[in-house]
Amino acid sequence: MYFISLGADTMNIYRPAVLVLVLTCGFMAGAAAAGDAGSQLGLPANAAASMQGIDAHRIGEHVRFLANDLLEGRGTGTRGGDIAANYIAAQFALYGLKPAGDNGSYLQKVEFVGVKTLAGTSAALQPARGATLDLKLAEDYVAGNQTQTDSVDIDAPIVFVGYGIEAPEYNWNDFKGVDVKGKVVLVIVNEPPSKDPKFFNAEALTYYGRWTYKFEQAARKGAVGALIIHRTDLASYGWEVVRNSWSGEQVYLGNDKDPKLKAASWIQLEIARKLFTASNLNLDEMLTAAGTRQFQARELPVRFKAHIESKVRKFESYNVLGLLPGKDSGGSQAVAYSAHYDHLGIDPAMSGDNIYNGAVDNGTGCGILLEMAHAFTTSAARPPSPVLFAAVTAEEKGMLGSNYLGKHLPIPAGKIALDLNYDAILPVGVPQSVNVTGAERTSFYPTVEKTAAAFGFEIQADAEPGAGHYYRSDHFSMARAGVPAFSVNTGVKFAGHPPEWGKAQHEEYTAKRYHRPSDEFTPDMDFTSDAAVAKFGFALGWQAMLAKGTVNWLPGDEFEAVRLHGAAH
Ligand SMILES: [Zn+2]
Repeated sequence: MYFISLGADTMNIYRPAVLVLVLTCGFMAGAAAAGDAGSQLGLPANAAASMQGIDAHRIGEHVRFLANDLLEGRGTGTRGGDIAANYIAAQFALYGLKPAGDNGSYLQKVEFVGVKTLAGTSAALQPARGATLDLKLAEDYVAGNQTQTDSVDIDAPIVFVGYGIEAPEYNWNDFKGVDVKGKVVLVIVNEPPSKDPKFFNAEALTYYGRWTYKFEQAARKGAVGALIIHRTDLASYGWEVVRNSWSGEQVYLGNDKDPKLKAASWIQLEIARKLFTASNLNLDEMLTAAGTRQFQARELPVRFKAHIESKVRKFESYNVLGLLPGKDSGGSQAVAYSAHYDHLGIDPAMSGDNIYNGAVDNGTGCGILLEMAHAFTTSAARPPSPVLFAAVTAEEKGMLGSNYLGKHLPIPAGKIALDLNYDAILPVGVPQSVNVTGAERTSFYPTVEKTAAAFGFEIQADAEPGAGHYYRSDHFSMARAGVPAFSVNTGVKFAGHPPEWGKAQHEEYTAKRYHRPSDEFTPDMDFTSDAAVAKFGFALGWQAMLAKGTVNWLPGDEFEAVRLHGAAH
């Protein structure tokens, strides 16, 4: 069964996976001390000692500061966000990292445009024969003007392009034999149903199924608009989720050159039904047909007419980039560590505590990144290759800071072997399992398995492969830029507790603190878990630098082409 997967990262509806206890890799021996693990994994003794020195308390102190009310929730483009960026830059400087931002600084400026659709917006479907169907904003459709202008008009024919996917590795092209330039595409979310791992990765969602891909691909093909059909029957959320998330401001990179849609739009299933009926077609038949290779996109005898009014706001923020040169500066095995520092800021409309402190999300990832930089820079053994430390902005706006970074890397993507990302690592004690979803898609996975075993970690399988979690954190921006990347987090097993306890910790966080002002620092937090995944990442990174060659995606993976040829995804 396929589920529509709305990208919660931009929509503040994302809930971490409800963790089901599916554990692979039956290694059950007691956890080796991390120092032993280091020598066991071939790290130089001095590097293993630095890894061992990674300290939970120091991670906690970074979190304490970053989650302070004085930082006002670290909103992108706000004072508190900029204070966080400068705090991280100061730490990088104190550690002796080289600035890798703009003009010899640690800061890489990122420009943004916020676009809010206003009530003066109107849209209609006009069939060649029969009455025009006026659509009600929010009730029947939502729309955003990506071109970042106050007002735009569209009057163009609609072309049904099925899933709207062009995926050479799966021999699939919904745009074959059809020109959508200047037209509006009608598209289904998700991807063709499959149980075959070689065809859209079976039941796991590929990026082709994501709604963001649909808009990007339509724009690349020269369409002026895209209408995504919302299918309540298959979605794990209702229309109100779409409506609510699009009633606010959508944020885009202000200085990227990607093609843009005048109307990035969702329509209700019943509106799509009327649209097909007006074209003498049956919606259900067309949806079924779209799941087959024989499907042929077709222009419908209906025009989409719209006038979209928007409030446009420009602002800027910064990625924070520090570089540790390696012994070998010319090699292709640099390693990157990343974590987003932004959070949701302040909600002026909320009474009481209205500061989204983001202690866990993602003070913890920043604390890990900083302590990792500290460990690398204090190591008596110099890393074989350069190490990039990247604290990125605007993750909560749709992974935009990392998106920009991927397009403006201080080290070319082809020279980076691996990016390890950290996002929201619960500070709850000694972990005995880790989550490394996406690692299994790379040639590095045997090393990940070996390292997990040396640390006494089980590798926890992705409990919801169909939900596309891989596409919802900053490592994805690196993957689509050509860098093998995944996030490292704890699983549900913790020392001294049954797995149900770990699961309950995640659930409690999701229900009570995730994306709420209550995601605050408390003195009882136990950052041992954060230190453990930091040590694990340190060992992984060092091994990636020592390996015989760089890391690649496994053959046939959706990111293989961009890794090998630098092609746009
Ligand atoms: Zn978040």
